[in-house]
Amino acid sequence: MDWHLAGIDAVLTGLGSDPATGLSSAEAAKRLAIQGRNELLDRGGPPPWRILWEQFTSTMALILIAAACLAALVGSFRDSLAILAIVSLFALGFFQEYRAERAMAALKRLAVPTVRVRRDGRLSEIPAGELVAGDVVLVEAGNMVAADCRVIEAFSLRAQEALLTGEAEPVEKSAAALSGENLPLGDRGNMLYMGTTISQGRATAVVVATGMATELGRIAGLMQQVRQQWTPLQRRLAQLGKGLAVLSVAIAALIFVLGLLRGEDLTLMLMTAVSVAVAAIPEGLPAVVTITLAMGAQRMLRRKALIRRLPAVETLGSVTVICTDKTGTLTENRMTVTEIAPAGCLLNGTPPLSQGEEATDDVRRLLMAAALCNDAVLKRGAENALGDPTETALLVAASGEGLYRPELEEHLPRVAENPFDAGLKRMVTVHDLADAAFAASIGLRGDNQRLVVCKGALDSVMSLCDRIGSGAGERSLGVAERRAVEQAADRLAGQGRRVLAVAWGIEDGADGMVGAYHLSLLGLVALMDPPRAEARDAVARCIDAGIRPVMITGDHPLTARAIAREVGIDGGGGVVTGAELDRLDADGVASVVADCSLFARVAPEHKLMIVEALQQGGQVVAMTGDGANDAPALKRADIGVAMGAAGTDVAREAGDMVLLDDNFATIVSSVEEGRTIYDNIRKFIVFSVSGNLGKVLAVLALPFLGLPNPLTPLQILWLNLLTDGLLGLGMGMERAEPDIMQRPPVPPAARIFDRPTLWRATLTGLVIGATAISVAWYFWRYQYLHPAENWQTVLFTCLASAQVGQAMALRSFRHSFLRMGLFTNPVLMAMAMSVVLLQGAVVCLPVLHPWFRTVPLSGHGLVAALVPGVVVFAVLEVAKSLTTNKAAENQTNTAP
Ligand code: ADP
Ligand code: MG
Repeated sequence: MDWHLAGIDAVLTGLGSDPATGLSSAEAAKRLAIQGRNELLDRGGPPPWRILWEQFTSTMALILIAAACLAALVGSFRDSLAILAIVSLFALGFFQEYRAERAMAALKRLAVPTVRVRRDGRLSEIPAGELVAGDVVLVEAGNMVAADCRVIEAFSLRAQEALLTGEAEPVEKSAAALSGENLPLGDRGNMLYMGTTISQGRATAVVVATGMATELGRIAGLMQQVRQQWTPLQRRLAQLGKGLAVLSVAIAALIFVLGLLRGEDLTLMLMTAVSVAVAAIPEGLPAVVTITLAMGAQRMLRRKALIRRLPAVETLGSVTVICTDKTGTLTENRMTVTEIAPAGCLLNGTPPLSQGEEATDDVRRLLMAAALCNDAVLKRGAENALGDPTETALLVAASGEGLYRPELEEHLPRVAENPFDAGLKRMVTVHDLADAAFAASIGLRGDNQRLVVCKGALDSVMSLCDRIGSGAGERSLGVAERRAVEQAADRLAGQGRRVLAVAWGIEDGADGMVGAYHLSLLGLVALMDPPRAEARDAVARCIDAGIRPVMITGDHPLTARAIAREVGIDGGGGVVTGAELDRLDADGVASVVADCSLFARVAPEHKLMIVEALQQGGQVVAMTGDGANDAPALKRADIGVAMGAAGTDVAREAGDMVLLDDNFATIVSSVEEGRTIYDNIRKFIVFSVSGNLGKVLAVLALPFLGLPNPLTPLQILWLNLLTDGLLGLGMGMERAEPDIMQRPPVPPAARIFDRPTLWRATLTGLVIGATAISVAWYFWRYQYLHPAENWQTVLFTCLASAQVGQAMALRSFRHSFLRMGLFTNPVLMAMAMSVVLLQGAVVCLPVLHPWFRTVPLSGHGLVAALVPGVVVFAVLEVAKSLTTNKAAENQTNTAP
């Protein structure tokens, strides 16, 4: 059926729906069973076999397979088989990666928006997936359309349909039936399509198609299903891995050639070369990094931050500036009206009425206007109001005078509106004055004219006014009056109040909505929005961590300053307004953002300006946003932070992360998680690279000392599996270091493998290699003292123990093992235990001996094998305490 060609009644009958009541829940459930959920078929992510294939074809796997072939060539089929078996253990990496992708997909599903729908005659919110054809939905600016709908009723409705039509300009929508065959999608002005966004106005609409039956579903193939993006870190590590692999092959080839030149046995040299290559490859690196990032994202979710793009996890650790909204993020967004200043008060300079004082006619009209120019819902007798907190506060105040919007609108039906616009900072509604008796009762003439009501920021509203007061007290608004009003508003704003001005007037002429207004200012309403209890603490943590919190608000500068003082944001740089920013050139903006942390009376486009200027100054910026027009700033910021509770779908879609509780403190705790993850990955890299270096050294050096063929390729692979696979995962679970939020942010350009890290890895590798080599050499040289021990098995076990010691010490680069706490990372401890048990099995279980070429160790050998573990642990711990002491000394020396 061509829904756009049919009249509304035909559409509704066709769908068996009624706009007043919507579907019944029973009917909806029945339809859901038949039509299926309103979801596009999941084509997200590559199929499992692809991930598997990628694992197998990665450079490292190829080298290992080559090693297996070589082993087969020289006749050691057992080695060859075992290597292949371990290559298939890459399936472990595969499972990890697959699980990580699943986890991310699950997170994405969590971000699915809810829809306001009328069912059983009541308005409720349901997950978008439960929509069925025939459902009556309500949409408004900022919503994403959740299914294909036919518009029933529209108010200044515009939708942005670039996703379907490629047209970036929002198009106007209305309920009118259309005619004409083959209208392209872009011209179907009475339809709303799944996946498009409402850029202005609001509407009631009936769902005509869901899921894959929608226009979007039809072209689902076109939707670029982005492969899980790699983070910069993952990319760098993949490069590192490939580099190491190539290097190891080169070294192996060199050893092979040199050995042959020296006249060594071909088979022996081939096996040595293969062993070196295998030893140097960090097999576990990619999988450990992916899983660490994904688990980090899940930990953040538990702390109420939903990560939408995995790279954000890592960028969070580098954030240097957090730009945050005031309302709802630093404050509770639980507004209450505290003072009301009607025109009379403003002109006489008497203090405003506190909430609860007896209302005059003036005040009643002010509240009536505030309730009329309002989209929130509060019914008589109802406990809670629904809607924007500013507006609900006004409704609650009006209800104190027995004024309710639905009842007022019976006398003064709304006929047009300009919804609240964060740029203009005001909202306008137009009401029919047909009810002459009622109009007269509130001092208005009702000869079929219309009443325009406006509320918003004082400067914005006052620009539409030429009079002040109402009824008999109305008079013209001159310069003196304006000044008196402004002073009163400043006094209230200085106490941290959000101040709204309210005005109304009879519309003159047909062009009322577009032309100039001649409204009369009814007065001011002051609202209080207390700062969140945890905001002060979170701001302090931020500053400690070298991150500058910046407040950006649409509110008055004095309100901004008062709240900033309460939460501890530095007001030293003064308050800069949007208008002041507009007057500056790019350099001016850059110098302002460098030291000003308070921005007030800004429009959404200023957010973009501020982000860009900060980024030019080399900052890494997190920026919060909730409105649809915050999307550009959210996209531009290094971390776009969308509000989960109060935000629009469009903002959520643009954000890198979503705050489920809209709380500033949640951003700060995400930064902490981000830093921890970065830390842990870096520790793991040092761990993995230095361990491999130790193994390579053993394989290279021992033959020169006369100990041929120290480790078989299989033994090396086994060690890599234990250390990178098991211990690596445990290291990824390490909790935050105690002072993680007292350090400066990670410089964004810093490479994960920088010079100190390289040194650390090299030195650790040398220690591991040297101790393991010494112990092995001892057992070889003094074989007659320990006839039962096999030096190769001792070496093999030495390397395993060295890695366990290393993993324990590398829990932190700076804090001692004990400071990190013995029981704070149970996963790592369990992994270490498993390594001990598994290595014990390989050494002690006779069935495994032919495979691993091991010989049981007795007392001496076992004890000796523990030595490298203890030595490595001790050396690293001592080195830590020396360097941290030196750092502390340096700090005290440089301190004034
Ligand atoms: P914030 O950055 O604090 O969220 P907003 O952009 O929401 O600020 O609001 C900026 C100004 O717009 C407020 O100071 C107030 O004067 C006005 N305002 C806010 N909400 C409304 C509304 N629903 N209707 C009319 N005016 C509003
Ligand atoms: Mg706001």
